[in-house]
Amino acid sequence: MPKCCSKPEIDRRGILAMAGIGVPTALVGLSAAPKFARAAAQSSRPQTPDEALAALKDGNARYVEAPELCVTKPSKQRASVATGQSPWATIVACADSRVPPELIFGGLGLGELFVARNAGNQVDTQAIGTVEFGSAVLGSHLIVVLGHSRCGAVQAACDVVTDNATFPGSIGPMVDPIVPAALAVRDKPGDFLANATRESALRTAARLTTASTILSDLVKSGKLKIVAGEYDLETGKVEFFEEAVEGSAGFTKG
Ligand SMILES: [Zn+2]
Repeated sequence: MPKCCSKPEIDRRGILAMAGIGVPTALVGLSAAPKFARAAAQSSRPQTPDEALAALKDGNARYVEAPELCVTKPSKQRASVATGQSPWATIVACADSRVPPELIFGGLGLGELFVARNAGNQVDTQAIGTVEFGSAVLGSHLIVVLGHSRCGAVQAACDVVTDNATFPGSIGPMVDPIVPAALAVRDKPGDFLANATRESALRTAARLTTASTILSDLVKSGKLKIVAGEYDLETGKVEFFEEAVEGSAGFTKG
């Protein structure tokens, strides 16, 4: 059973205190709506950004070393979270079928992760609103922008840069936001796709704070941490780029 399965109750005042800083009144009011009422908290639920990051690292280590142990019991959890949720981390992940966040972070259960997924793990208005809601209203302590090896969406952006590739339908506009990251690293040593994947994840993580005052205020208050990372399809390991994000040294603005 995942670590985060037993949570002590916290009252609504505590909930609002967790979500309140820098949050518009309308959002705080939203947090009180029964539809989004938070689940009864449990003692092992990570309470800080650093605890949330450590829990994800521990869970990924479990997945790498003993994936057979990464199981959950949704039949029991379903009832406990049916009337509310209190996810402690938010994952912006690629839609790739090989990168399911709950599994690769150790078999996390219902109600633990707030997840936004799209090809290439980008953040448009809908995704930014989603992660704002996860942190400001639901109290998620951590946002991870998670790229992965051999990402088809990032590869498409690399193909735009190297071959002026075009794509049908809405696939081209979907790839466009990744192209600046690919352009920024096209002449750097190493593997172009790997470099572009990392650059894109770092830029996306940075964009969350530059595009959202809700998120930047939460980061400034110490209630939220935003990091980028990359999942290796072969080893199952997630490498976090937290140092680069914290210091902004890893970003190539563009
Ligand atoms: Zn992908």
